[in-house]
Amino acid sequence: MPQTLHYTVDPFDLAGHRLRITLHIPRVANRDQIIFAPAWIPGSYLIRDFSRHIESIRGMHDGKWHTPEKIDSHHWVFRRCHGSLSVEIVVYAWDLSVRGAHVDQSHVFFNGTSVFLGVKGLESKRCTVDIKRPTGKRNWRAYSSMPLLKSYPNGKLMGRYVAPNYDALIDHPFELGTPQVVEFDACGAPHKMIFSGYAPNLDLQRIKHDAQKICESQIRLFEPDRPKAPFLDSADHYLFMTTVTPDGYGGLEHRASTALVASRKDLPTLHQQNPPHGYTTFLGLVSHEYFHTWHVKRIKPAAFVPYDLSKPNHTQLLWVFEGFTSYYDDLMLLRSGVIDLAAYLSLLSKTITTVHSAPGRFKQSLADSSFDAWTKYYKQDENAPNTISSYYAKGSLVALGLDLTIRIKSKDRYSLDDVMRALWRKFGLNFYKQSQTGLGEAELAKLIRTTTAVDVSGEIDQWVTNTEDVPLQSLLAQAGFAMRWMNKDQMPALGATFKPLGEFLTVRHVIEGGEAHRAGLSSADVLLAIDDLRVGNSLEALKSILATYKTGSVVTLHTFRADVLRSVRLRISAPQKSTCEIHPINGQSGIANREQL
Ligand code: ZN
Repeated sequence: MPQTLHYTVDPFDLAGHRLRITLHIPRVANRDQIIFAPAWIPGSYLIRDFSRHIESIRGMHDGKWHTPEKIDSHHWVFRRCHGSLSVEIVVYAWDLSVRGAHVDQSHVFFNGTSVFLGVKGLESKRCTVDIKRPTGKRNWRAYSSMPLLKSYPNGKLMGRYVAPNYDALIDHPFELGTPQVVEFDACGAPHKMIFSGYAPNLDLQRIKHDAQKICESQIRLFEPDRPKAPFLDSADHYLFMTTVTPDGYGGLEHRASTALVASRKDLPTLHQQNPPHGYTTFLGLVSHEYFHTWHVKRIKPAAFVPYDLSKPNHTQLLWVFEGFTSYYDDLMLLRSGVIDLAAYLSLLSKTITTVHSAPGRFKQSLADSSFDAWTKYYKQDENAPNTISSYYAKGSLVALGLDLTIRIKSKDRYSLDDVMRALWRKFGLNFYKQSQTGLGEAELAKLIRTTTAVDVSGEIDQWVTNTEDVPLQSLLAQAGFAMRWMNKDQMPALGATFKPLGEFLTVRHVIEGGEAHRAGLSSADVLLAIDDLRVGNSLEALKSILATYKTGSVVTLHTFRADVLRSVRLRISAPQKSTCEIHPINGQSGIANREQL
């Protein structure tokens, strides 16, 4: 009889943000049984040392409690075991992010990586999970995409869940509480959206309506002939789990769910004539994470098959997995009809403006940006714009560049959609059933050639292996769009960005080679006055003060650096044409057609 590892999650101390988790192993794999905690969570490429939140660990075998020996920061060993072993940990859970665990009297949210210890040698074994009902929370419900074996309405247990192995066990986060819930079907598959946190009068019907269109469009993109949702290999529904916060933003993808953090002001409420401006940002996040259900949760880099949760897993392909996803997230908003072409082109223009404002794109290739995500992209400091290239933002422009190149060279016979479907058929479709292989580091160009008969190896070499810009102006022109560089805000080019801090503005980034760099301004310098005039804490005030000077004037900036007054001389240079704008060229069709782009 194959054995099942059994976990129990007990939210025993809501006020103190603590969970007690027990793991019962019916038969240990080894006499010296190693137990581990993941060092990172798939999808978020940074060593997070989840073991640091484990307050206590002990194990029961031979009828006695034992303290394990520590091997390193993430591994423990219980010596001289035979037969069964039960391990008990207490986890402190007070991280309101999509990556961790958060517990208080209002709700419980956790990722499996924060609470479920792994058993060395038994990673492939089936796992069951009991969720205990917190004392006094009779109206709470449990939400997770992990398949439910049995529910216990109002009982001491909230539910018993099952996962085929450890990899699946840690890929279905849980929410316990009383969130707002809305459900819909997309291509016949059940989807559920839950919103926890304070969000009065949320317009759930509008959100449901838009999310459904996005999900259906994506399912039809990958499976145009027989639309079938990808997560049905692992779950009976897909779950969007949103935590509403004052100003948060972020998401993390899972095989049949996603954890999102959204800003309250980005969500539509009842009785609003129009949704807030930031609603497109929220829908873009929904679209992005849902796209990952295919692309990175099933189609994966070979380097992630299987994940090694004890150390960084390096791949040069994050530009494919995050960049293509970032390209399709907004594009699917357009294709599904939740935004119009003008709104889409405005989003695209913003991405191009952002990418082109950072000189770091000439220092770091996208292949290197992907490989070094663990130490650079995820550890950005004030120098990031000068040294880093974003595999998200530039990666999405490379996806657009490849899409346009394939369309132009194949005379509109093929597009990047065909490449996505080929990736899906080759790597994704049966990933959790049998295939368990991933995309090789140098395999994409060949797959594109086989699929579309277009050779993009030169483009990938220039834009990804090297640091060249994607020639979007000429590619877009061939597709019927005019791209121009504008000076939109009339702000003189200081070569620095600022952010408000208390009563003042402080320097955020100094762009290499700009006036601020030449003058010796630094990040965190507090801007007090320009010549004799106080600046205050508003960017608008800074802009209006600068507008009183002629281009070429030299001004004195008075600043504090580490509480010491400094004055630097800075030349006001002409405003730069640094804002991208894209318009359809009248009378042209081709890719301007909404259905095709
Ligand atoms: Zn992503």
